[in-house]
Amino acid sequence: MEVGVSIERAKELISACKLNLSLETIHLDKANGRILAKGLVSKVNDPRFDNSAMDGWAVRKEDCSSNNVTILRIVGAIQAGSKNVHRIKSGEACKITTGAPIPDGADAIVIVENSRIEGENVIITGQAKKSFIRIKGENLSRGKLAIPEGTCMGSSTISLAATMGYDEISVFRKPIIGIISTGDELVMPNSKIKDWQIFESNSFGIAALVEKMGGKPVRYGIVTDSVDQLRETLDDAVENCDALITTGGVSMGDWDIVRKIMETEGEINFWKINMRPGGPPIFGKWKNKPLFGLPGNPVSSHLVFLMLVCPWFSATYRIKETARPNLGRKVRVKMKNSVRGAENKLCLRRIRIVSEKDGLQASTHTHQGSGNIHSMVAHNGVTLLPPNTDAEIGDIIDAFWFN
Ligand code: AMP
Ligand code: MG
Repeated sequence: MEVGVSIERAKELISACKLNLSLETIHLDKANGRILAKGLVSKVNDPRFDNSAMDGWAVRKEDCSSNNVTILRIVGAIQAGSKNVHRIKSGEACKITTGAPIPDGADAIVIVENSRIEGENVIITGQAKKSFIRIKGENLSRGKLAIPEGTCMGSSTISLAATMGYDEISVFRKPIIGIISTGDELVMPNSKIKDWQIFESNSFGIAALVEKMGGKPVRYGIVTDSVDQLRETLDDAVENCDALITTGGVSMGDWDIVRKIMETEGEINFWKINMRPGGPPIFGKWKNKPLFGLPGNPVSSHLVFLMLVCPWFSATYRIKETARPNLGRKVRVKMKNSVRGAENKLCLRRIRIVSEKDGLQASTHTHQGSGNIHSMVAHNGVTLLPPNTDAEIGDIIDAFWFN
């Protein structure tokens, strides 16, 4: 077991325990938020054929003088969805709608606003533009890899998949993540609460994070600080889940039962990371499945998920950390007030990031305690202050900006 590891070392140890997920084929209707397991190669050229980008007239560019009004004879009309049967000779025009195939002989489009019809002729009063013809294959050519493996499917990738002819795609099976909250003080929200108790919140937030990462969360409720009850719940969860997340009970106290049970009956890869808040997580295996023991403080459990569990999902999906489903992104921000860093630890202060004329600006607004989940709501990001570094007003520092 390694104790007090850097974030980089923690990620290495965690990535070595990535899952080997089976694949499943799903309909595009169900693809939102799923992680593509096999890259999609276009089955078609896009556009499939030369077509008009505008409603107007298909013409020959050389017929239309740029200065003078041009009179062309109307030889037909073509609309999107029609087969082209027209051929344009010098001095002729064919009416055309957006998306319709370009008649043979035409090489430019005049928009309808720059024309008027007089009997059998059209009077052209504006420019004929070649750029209003969408050329076959100019966006995508058949056989090109357009959506790589590991992409988190969303509205535009789903649309593109359909454009390329796919109605089904191959995705990673959703990893099932069991979530267990520990603590004698916890009761479920909206249940009867005694003066010394608090509402359990971690499992709800962590479940939302698991969903965002493309996993399927299963909440196993609250376990009191009893090793026997925890063992029973872990054994139950491990039967049905791919990995487990616990919250609470990982510090030095007598009641820190997750640490205790992992020491005596589990397998620990590391305990404690050089990060504040969120210092005491445990990572290891229970019955050969990965177990993340997150700290109990709500801010800490969120941020440790961000720093350690997200990279584990990325490793599982075999994608770069930067390509993972969107939780946010690393940015550079200018501090509007000073913040203190932490001794020998990466420091994640909550900040509110706003985009201003001269770049992203960040400020703090609430008490920064790791028990204050409201600080995650009042702010929209965290600093990534290197160990032993403070930030003064005007300093430009690394930060993570949540979506
Ligand atoms: P622990 O890590 O068990 O020492 O807990 C640290 C702090 O987080 C304590 O103040 C706990 O009451 C609080 N805490 C632990 N688990 C939860 C939870 N599931 N929801 C909300 N607060 C919690
Ligand atoms: Mg506890």
